[in-house]
Amino acid sequence: MGPFEYVRAEDAERAVAVVTADPRAAFLAGGTTQVDLMKDGVLAPSRLVDVTRLPLGGIVHGDGVVRVGALTTMEELAADPVVGARLGFVREALLAGASPQLRNMATIGGNLLQRARCRYFRDPSVAACNKRAPGSGCAAVAGPARMHAVLGTSPHCVALHASDVAVPLTAVDAVVHVLGVAGPRTVPLTDFYVPPGDTPHLENVLRRGELITAVEVPLLPEGARSHYLKVRDRASYEFALASAGVVLELDGETIVRARVALGGVGTIPWRSWDAEDVLTWASVDRAVFRDAAEAALAGARTLPGTEFKVELARRTLVRALETAAGVVS
Ligand code: SF4
Repeated sequence: MGPFEYVRAEDAERAVAVVTADPRAAFLAGGTTQVDLMKDGVLAPSRLVDVTRLPLGGIVHGDGVVRVGALTTMEELAADPVVGARLGFVREALLAGASPQLRNMATIGGNLLQRARCRYFRDPSVAACNKRAPGSGCAAVAGPARMHAVLGTSPHCVALHASDVAVPLTAVDAVVHVLGVAGPRTVPLTDFYVPPGDTPHLENVLRRGELITAVEVPLLPEGARSHYLKVRDRASYEFALASAGVVLELDGETIVRARVALGGVGTIPWRSWDAEDVLTWASVDRAVFRDAAEAALAGARTLPGTEFKVELARRTLVRALETAAGVVS
């Protein structure tokens, strides 16, 4: 790890001003991504602005919504009784997302901003990585790519977005609150992430120096059924090969509203409105769920080594829908 200046932020406005003015400065919160990447030599900020003492934690329960401070830890959010009762699949994703030690360190704001798990991105000895060094190429498109994306990819980057909790938060239309030098603003999570295109180093719509202050999460209606299913190589401390976060609102056997998002397969948390269209006003039926899964993966593009993920993601989504509907065979 290279040398850097450590600054403890006294208030959010001054922290934002410092990071906005210095292109080599970065925020420090839980540190579970930032410090790892600094140790690996992937990131080398000249100044870290520690925001952990700012009053940006805590969960506020409102009318039909929870406002989650950006410094709320994954464990705190998973333990919240309202989240457990009205956002069950958010809780499931949080618990599937990391070990207890990490959940007690990692913040919700940091989780949404976690960097790619691409092995080439995280290895500075690999020269070709457009995300780390724009214009250098992409080692993953020619090398082993088993853990890479099949949705939202470009010839310039196929790296996954690895967050679990971002999947149900995307499905439920969470809103991100950010603070910049121009003041606060809000961004729907469905508009927050940017697929790689020809600028893989740009991962979201945050402007230089903007700080996530909170995430607002609408509660699911009473009676809505949700589930988050994560499929991975081992049962803990592993990223998803495929995951699905789903919500079904039922009137008898009829689906009156469906929400679907996928993880482990997209360059961003992947909301599938196509799958939702298939499900809405259809009956609870395995064939319908399979049609929805076909629609969700219709745009998949594979590399040698990622072909299996398309069918795996379809089956993951079908199983998640069956579990939510209570018809698991
Ligand atoms: Fe870099 Fe993206 Fe290619 Fe990985 S997939 S090597 S992050 S450009």
